[in-house]
Amino acid sequence: MTYSKVIENFLRYVKIDTQSSEESSDKVPSTEKQRNLAKLLYQELTDLGAENVRYDEEHGYVYAVIPSNMDQDKVPAVGFIAHMDTSPAVSGENVNPRVIENYDGKDIILNQEANIVTCVSDFPMLKSCRGKSLIVTDGSTLLGGDDKAGVAEIMAMAEYLLTHPEVKHGKVCVGFTPDEEVGNGVEYFDIKGFGADYAYTVDGGMLGDMSYECFNAAGAVLTVTGKSVHPGYAKNVMRNAIKLAYEFQRALPDECPENTEGYEGFYHVDHMKGNVEEVVAEYIIRDHDKAKFEERKAVFAKTAENLNKKYGEGTFHVTISDSYSNMREMIEQKMYIVDNAAEAMRQAGVEPVISAIRGGTDGARLSFDGLLCPNICTGSEGHHGRNEFACIEDMEKIVEILLNLIGITAKQ
Ligand SMILES: [Zn+2]
Repeated sequence: MTYSKVIENFLRYVKIDTQSSEESSDKVPSTEKQRNLAKLLYQELTDLGAENVRYDEEHGYVYAVIPSNMDQDKVPAVGFIAHMDTSPAVSGENVNPRVIENYDGKDIILNQEANIVTCVSDFPMLKSCRGKSLIVTDGSTLLGGDDKAGVAEIMAMAEYLLTHPEVKHGKVCVGFTPDEEVGNGVEYFDIKGFGADYAYTVDGGMLGDMSYECFNAAGAVLTVTGKSVHPGYAKNVMRNAIKLAYEFQRALPDECPENTEGYEGFYHVDHMKGNVEEVVAEYIIRDHDKAKFEERKAVFAKTAENLNKKYGEGTFHVTISDSYSNMREMIEQKMYIVDNAAEAMRQAGVEPVISAIRGGTDGARLSFDGLLCPNICTGSEGHHGRNEFACIEDMEKIVEILLNLIGITAKQ
């Protein structure tokens, strides 16, 4: 079977292990092997005839420009960004992709012996892939569609533009980043050198997915101070910090990741460590809505305050620090960036589905740093796991959407 460029690209890229690492996330790239894909992309972009192709030796970023072929210089420069690394959660070594043609819409057996199955009940979006072709794993690794599907699509788009000079377009900027999965994807991103007026991360899920909202996020540390004495003689003296921490947790509103979805925010106790004498609990606080987010932080602090009235000042100590903000407040100022992407999808016969990301994105940080950056779909799903899959026809559609988007931008 012969594949389209985007699928050829994808099958080539997923075989290169680019797993990032939490343990060495103090440096970028966190793993040297990410450079293997970076260097390949640098070479491929150079061979395709892109301009200003740069490989950032120090941090492993790759940038390139497809120059405008239009006379007027008023056309905005549009950027496309994808990340090269894969999640530390599951191995990305020796990825062995398998193509399922004409998918029947049923559960997919990845590995018969080990009984690794992708169940439609767990991944209901599979239903929309019935009759199309899927790329799946052999059950021993993740696939790497997050985000090599995005990388492959951007590369196919670049190749098309560079081999079709008759297609008129403004300046198109391409950027590939390391270490997105460990939170450092844009740490050293050269916004100025990238040269785009605004950009899109191609790092979403199923065909049609689009988002320009993410959480407002904070981390909170609760320290509970108890009093330890011999349990045999503890009556009216011992104060068990473990039980007090439990009381704190119970006093919070029952809004946690397990029972929230959509635009519902939450408090999440992520880590807890301690003994009778002292407990330290780490929380994350999330909400899309800025006012509700502020309220959540206030509720968290107030809970400690109330309990201190009961158990004595200083028993519960809370520190809260913001981690990232919802990019909506920035992007809303130039909504045509989102509208253009939606229009590009409709031109390709795809109905856009705009949803709020229940997490953060590299685009959020870029948006606050001056490069507005919504996120669009890759045609892959089940990320960070062995059940990850990508849909061939959807990935091809996404290349078309990127080209439509460039066309729409050129007319503005
Ligand atoms: Zn991703």
